[in-house]
Amino acid sequence: MTNTTTQDQLQVFIFDSCPVRGEIVSISESWQTILARKSYPAPVRQLLGDLVAAGVLLSGTLKFNGSLIIQAQGHGPIQLLVMECNADLSMRATAKFDENYNWASQSDYSLKELLNPQGGGQLVITLDPADRQPGQQPYQGIVALHDGHEAVKSIAQAIMLYMKNSEQLDTRIWLASDERSCGGLLIQRLPDHGGQQQIDANLTEESWQRLQALSDTVSHAELLTIAPKDLMRRLFLEESHHHGVRSFDPRNIRFACRCSRLKVADMLKMLGELEINSILDEQGQVESRCEFCGQNYLFDAVDCKQVFSAANLTDGIARPPEAKQ
Ligand SMILES: [Zn+2]
Repeated sequence: MTNTTTQDQLQVFIFDSCPVRGEIVSISESWQTILARKSYPAPVRQLLGDLVAAGVLLSGTLKFNGSLIIQAQGHGPIQLLVMECNADLSMRATAKFDENYNWASQSDYSLKELLNPQGGGQLVITLDPADRQPGQQPYQGIVALHDGHEAVKSIAQAIMLYMKNSEQLDTRIWLASDERSCGGLLIQRLPDHGGQQQIDANLTEESWQRLQALSDTVSHAELLTIAPKDLMRRLFLEESHHHGVRSFDPRNIRFACRCSRLKVADMLKMLGELEINSILDEQGQVESRCEFCGQNYLFDAVDCKQVFSAANLTDGIARPPEAKQ
């Protein structure tokens, strides 16, 4: 029952007894790939790991062909945490933070302390459809991380707020991350389809409460070390005796970066020929490093000239800033 996780997987399941969907994710190899690209202080790594696990869980709930992008933005020692997950569960993530901050002294790993100690800060969730037409805006949902005097403390809490506000779905999320892996559990109450009697509603409420109580027993160690399917059985064994848990085939997760030379060229077009020429004058070439995978893109004077002569032909198809790289 306690196999060590060997694959990065998302396990989706539903309960026969009530309209509740569950998901368990475990990510090791792809998480190692992300950590190998950049050196993160422990508090940043912890929050980024939570975001990565949460992003895959959220992707799993969406019937959506495109990219899900979650950004936690603030003005504290961390300025930005970002993760992107595509419909095929390929994903990437990175963080921007103050390198000179005294990270070793930081014992409070909460969103409030690290992103918005003075208030403000937000979680922005973008759904960018694969077939988005030029000029069409991606869908965006925003959760304020500081609502009145109440600050959102964790990634899990922020995502649950988003689900409640944007999707009107009761969702509970448990997350864990360390230097080896990250993982999470989600249960979500699916909408009733009407026509049911009051007694059913009461039973559903009872089941929902019971499933939350069972989920609440999950430990960080379990989320980080047990394969999703085994953890599903362990947590909901009692439930499966009574009513049954139906699980789908586990889906694989992998790290993949969407950056390309073409996308960098698009970004140069957006900056404009004047700006690019002044960089060329100063540095002899334009250099762009991908924040997600570390790939370096170099454009010399000849390359830049080509970018702008092509721009004249395809004017008006500039990409929005969040799609760069
Ligand atoms: Zn890249």
